[in-house]
Amino acid sequence: MSTSYETINPFTTSDEHQAFRATVRDFIARETTREMDRELDATGEFPYELAKKMAEAGFYGIPFPAEYGGQDGSALEFAILCDELAYGSESAAACFLMPVFFAGEMVLLNGSEEQKREYLPRIIAGDLRGCFALTEPDAGSDAAAITTKAELDGDEFVLNGHKTLISGVDIADVIMCVCRTGPREPKPYSNMTILMVDRRAPGVEFRKIEKVGSRAVGLFEIFFDGVRVPKERTIGGYPEGVGSGWAHMWMSLDMERIMVATLYSAIARKAFDDALEHAKNREQFGQPIGRFQAIQHQLANMKIKVDAAGLMAYRAAWLKDEGLPCSMEGAEAKTFATETALQVCLDGMQVLGGWGYTMEYDMQRYARAAMLGPIGMGTNHIQKTIVAKLLGLF
Ligand SMILES: Cc1cc2nc3c(=O)[nH]c(=O)nc-3n(C[C@H](O)[C@H](O)[C@H](O)COP(=O)(O)OP(=O)(O)OC[C@H]3O[C@@H](n4cnc5c(N)ncnc54)[C@H](O)[C@@H]3O)c2cc1C
Repeated sequence: MSTSYETINPFTTSDEHQAFRATVRDFIARETTREMDRELDATGEFPYELAKKMAEAGFYGIPFPAEYGGQDGSALEFAILCDELAYGSESAAACFLMPVFFAGEMVLLNGSEEQKREYLPRIIAGDLRGCFALTEPDAGSDAAAITTKAELDGDEFVLNGHKTLISGVDIADVIMCVCRTGPREPKPYSNMTILMVDRRAPGVEFRKIEKVGSRAVGLFEIFFDGVRVPKERTIGGYPEGVGSGWAHMWMSLDMERIMVATLYSAIARKAFDDALEHAKNREQFGQPIGRFQAIQHQLANMKIKVDAAGLMAYRAAWLKDEGLPCSMEGAEAKTFATETALQVCLDGMQVLGGWGYTMEYDMQRYARAAMLGPIGMGTNHIQKTIVAKLLGLF
């Protein structure tokens, strides 16, 4: 069964977009199964084989320019990829988003030319994975409160500090670590710098934190104890990149919000499709439960939200491609899609009745994945504050 979403999405009706969507769908159908997603969620293992195949299929190169080995994809193509991966397979989405997108986008937008040439081809080929370490025990939403410190000693920085709630550390080759290279003045975000730290370097230790959902990519805290990082590994190069960490993080926010919005609208779409199928097939009182108006209205409400979330996500991507401002639309889309995904999954559990609460159906897995949306990648409270700021309210 299909919602035929692409037929009503005005942003991706071109032959090229449709062909690309079909390519990603074919890959998902060929290389992934629901059983694989269930198993990886249960074991918390990363799908290395699948990751390799995705790199070979060229998907890792979509958001990156051809001169670095990428596919020169547009924001809309990137959105299609995120949408189809997240709809098709939680494992496939996990392979791409954390280890490839976050590290690659950071290098693309902020790296020196030398760093782009060194790292992007390896990321695109699937030979290098990264993770992004900003959050600390006392610095979550207040990101400028970080205290992890890097001090120059000869040609190397010496890094000390504690990061927490960091995704994918065990599978990363490089930790993009946001740290302080000077005092927190004149502004709270002054003197922040991003260093590319070798995850296997002496002095790097990490501990797994068990989490509720999306378990194929693990969650960790990291301890840096006198870790030596060559100064050339400053994002943006040395000395140019020193103190530019805050600006560097802002650079990638638009694409990040487009990505998150597309991803969670796809989770909502998947949950809706499963619920719809169940409502058509499950019979009670001698008829499919979808004949009862209570279920019909619940599904109609789910469908309305799923469509709106997808359209908002693609609108933000379209604006980006047109070179128009999209920060507000991206924040709106992230907020709406993540709230929608959670609500649609919970509604889906209701439609499935008792089976919705069991581990034998996938609705609980989607719901567990959806729970992260409103919290991660800038909480929705913070997204709403951004919208309010862009509306000129403060
Ligand atoms: C599964 C998972 C993966 C993650 N991966 C990464 C990662 O790879 N790298 C990384 O750096 N971080 C990562 N994080 C951390 C994530 O970015 C933070 O959890 C998030 O930014 C919120 O910070 P916090 O948890 O400290 O909550 P807090 O900042 O303590 O917020 C608690 C509550 O207060 C609200 N709040 C805080 N300040 C304000 C305000 N000014 N106005 C209104 N409300 C406010 C928040 O919205 C939230 O509801 C991950 C988290 C999770 C759960």
